[in-house]
This record gives sequence, structure tokens and C-alpha cells, in this order.
Amino acid sequence: MSFKEFKFHPKINAGIEACGYTAPTPIQKEAIPPILEGRDILGLAQTGTGKTAAFVLPLLQRLLDGPRKKVRALIVAPTRELAEQIHDDISKMGKQTGLRSISIYGGVGKQPQVRAIRNGVEIIVACPGRLLDLLNDRAFSLKAVEALVLDEADHMFDKGFLPDIRRIIKQLPTKRQSLVFSATMPREIRHLAENILTNPATVQINHTQPVLSISHVLFQVAKAQKTSLLKSIIQDENMTSTLVFTRTKHKAKSLALHLQKSGYSAASIQGNLSQQKRQQALNGFKDGTFKILVATDIAARGIDVQGISHVINYDVPDTAEAYTHRTGRTGRATRTGKAFIFADREDSKMISIIERTLGKKLQLEPTPGFAWEPQEAISKEMREARSRQMQKKKRPASPGRRRSQHSSGSGVFSLASAGRNNRSRSAQQ
Ligand code: AMP
Repeated sequence: MSFKEFKFHPKINAGIEACGYTAPTPIQKEAIPPILEGRDILGLAQTGTGKTAAFVLPLLQRLLDGPRKKVRALIVAPTRELAEQIHDDISKMGKQTGLRSISIYGGVGKQPQVRAIRNGVEIIVACPGRLLDLLNDRAFSLKAVEALVLDEADHMFDKGFLPDIRRIIKQLPTKRQSLVFSATMPREIRHLAENILTNPATVQINHTQPVLSISHVLFQVAKAQKTSLLKSIIQDENMTSTLVFTRTKHKAKSLALHLQKSGYSAASIQGNLSQQKRQQALNGFKDGTFKILVATDIAARGIDVQGISHVINYDVPDTAEAYTHRTGRTGRATRTGKAFIFADREDSKMISIIERTLGKKLQLEPTPGFAWEPQEAISKEMREARSRQMQKKKRPASPGRRRSQHSSGSGVFSLASAGRNNRSRSAQQ
């Protein structure tokens, strides 16, 4: 199928061409026709499927006719990065149309945003908090909005934005087209969708399936060895652009610093950074200044960077959905990518859940020198070393020594426990 079949205006076809898209992705094939007909849509699709163009292109077509310098379309996104991304996509796809969009979010001054809106825009891409703030200031009105898009609705819910969303929707005309996109469909999102959509067409693309063009590889590694393993992988693999996920903001920051000190071009993006610093890190990653970006799940939402070759789950995610979102950053649209997951013995439950979601076993990569050792795999030498240790401990000991005897308990002498010692060392560094 070609984009021609949608019969877009030549100015929009020019935008599609400028983006280099030759054929629509499955979500575009399914969602564009009903959106062009003016229907409401419930789109179940994750980032990486081409969903932004699926709603931006028909919206541009709709807005081409009709008044200018009025806010006629409102797109609400859960993060500043996603809002910026959508705004960039609109600018690219709509370049020839003369339609203008603006992204608005907190953390930067209000006045330039208000001025830009008053100067005349047709599309606002907003994060809920700042939008509500400006609406409360009566900075502008949404009375001319004809179309509403809620993107990544499940993340809005995760971030506690649903009450804000409801308040925003109250300020919109009831007669409008509404599109809701979500990667997952928790009960709360279903309720919200039922409230705001009228007779919607449901479009569902692989919503629980991670992007198909990705290979998923499992590395069994002791916690304290993860950074060494990461560095050795970075050296071995042909990595053009690598997104590394950690569980905490602190770890994202310290890992990026450690990689920098070790000579890698790395940056971190996490919630503690100012908006300016986040944007700098993201721009540097996009333009290739940084080959490695270390991020937390929240900070990475909606990040769309072309050509991410590897996603590394330095820490396993908390949910299978988070894994799908993380790995959806690579292998986007037609590209292929690799997703690596570092797992300790304690992570085995989450690994099984991820494997169930994928519908297959993760490919297990040997990690000589890094792995945690299952008890039965302890070698003869290790057993002997352990028994020598136990013998030593049986000798009369100073109080300090008795403490260490206690702490080893039934302690199996394994790389996992060696790893823990390393970790406390590296934590002190
Ligand atoms: P999205 O799911 O909207 O974040 O899009 C994921 C990526 O796919 C982005 O980098 C888009 O530029 C790209 N993309 C969107 N539509 C197409 C298409 N029809 N052909 C190729 N790439 C596309």
C-alpha cells in the first residue's frame, strides 16, 4: 500500500516525502482512514509503530481548510520530550502547509509560550500541568478546538495526570473529534476513553508485543559486575547509539559519569536535571555527540531518536510493559535493533514474565567472568577455597573476626558474593 491511497493534499504528501516515508506502517494503514472520516479513535499502539504520523497526517489534512490563527487542535502528551517530539514531527510533516504548532510544558518560562500562542498557532502540543496552569491564567482559550489527541494515555495515568486531563477536557467544545492512544489499556484508561470518545473505531497494533525487528538477549550477571560487563559489551559490539536504562535517577547519573571518566561519550537523562540540561543531553544523543544515553524509565518516555542500535536494560524493568516501552526505542519502524537485559539471580521472576510477554525465551548469552553462579555449578576449586576459609574461621578469633564469621553465615563462596563485596567498594568510590 502507498500513502497515495489516502489522497492527502499535495502539501502533506510533500511532508511525507520529506520525512522519507515510502509506505504506511500498520497503525497508519488502520488509523488514517477513520480519522480522515472524522471518527473518534481508540488506538492501542506503542511508541515505535509510527503512531505519531498516524494522527498528525490526517489532522493536518483537516486543518488545511478553515480558519488560521486559532487553536484548532490540541495534543496532550505526558512528557516534555514527547511533546517536543510530536511538535518536531508536525513541523516536518506540515512544513508546506503553513500550519503552526507550539509545544508547551513546565520548567521553562510561561511568557514566550503565551506570546507564541497569541501570535497565532493552529496546533498546541502540551503537557497537562502547564496547559492547565495557562488555562487558569486565562492566557488563551480552547473554544475553537476541533480535534483532541491524548497520546500515551497510560503514562498520563501512571503519572497521576488523569484529574488534570478531565479538567482540560471540560474547557473544550463538546462537538469535536477525539483520539486516544495508549500502549496498554488499564481500567482507568478504558473509563476515560468511554467518557470522551463517541462511537470510536478501535485500532490495535501489537500492543503487548514488543517491536518485532528486535533481538532480545539475556546476560546473567552479578549486580556488582554490571558496569564491567557493560563496558566490555560496549567495546565488543558495534554500537552506534545506545540507550541504557537504570532503575534510579541516582544510578543513571553515576553510571553516565563513570562511563565518561572511563573515556566513553555518555550522558544521562533523569528527572533531577533542569529542562535545559535534559534537552542538551537529548540533542547530544540525537546528533551523535553522545553515543550512550543513560536514562530512567520516566525520563525516557517518548524519546524518539533515529537509529538507536542497542537498548540495554542495566536494571531489569519493574513491569513487562516497561520492558516493551524501553525496547520499543530500538528497531523502530523498519530498522532492526538489539535489546540486552542484565539480570541477577533475584530477577528471575521478572525474566519469566518478560519471556511470557515476548512469547519466547530470551537468547542467553554466556558471561564468562561476570555471571552469578548457581550453587550446583560451584567448581571443585571453589569448594576447596571455601573449605579453607571455613577452617581459618574455626581458629580462635578476635571480636572483629567473629563478626565477619557471622556475616558469611552459610555464605556460598561464589561470584555473586564476591560481586557484593565489589559493589560496596564501587559504591564508596
Ligand atoms: P512513532 O511511533 O510515532 O514514535 O514513530 C516511530 C518512528 O517511525 C519515528 O522515527 C518515525 O519517524 C518513523 N516512521 C513513522 N512512520 C513511518 C513510515 N511510514 N515509514 C518509515 N518510518 C516511519
